[in-house]
Amino acid sequence: MANVTCYKCRRRFDLDPVFVGAELRKLKIKNPRHYQAVCPACHATNKVSVTEMQDELDAAADEIEALVKEQAKAAEEARKRAQAAAKEKKAKKEKEAAKDKK
Ligand SMILES: [Zn+2]
Repeated sequence: MANVTCYKCRRRFDLDPVFVGAELRKLKIKNPRHYQAVCPACHATNKVSVTEMQDELDAAADEIEALVKEQAKAAEEARKRAQAAAKEKKAKKEKEAAKDKK
């Protein structure tokens, strides 16, 4: 597991290659060279070289693929839920508007 030492507060933290791989896949860049790791202590962004993590990312490729699919599914479900909530809100508003007319 890749270990990062925060440049700002010197705290050491681990990076999960599966999580990093999924995050990198979400970037709209082809072959990103750096991963921006956020320090859990001070929230400073630490640039981590992807090349240094490549072996770990390759080893976790299947798990990364599974996580990306899972996240895409969750995002789709959240979008549907938001749509349903918006529809419900609109219906409620129309109902109330109709009531006001009386
Ligand atoms: Zn820090």
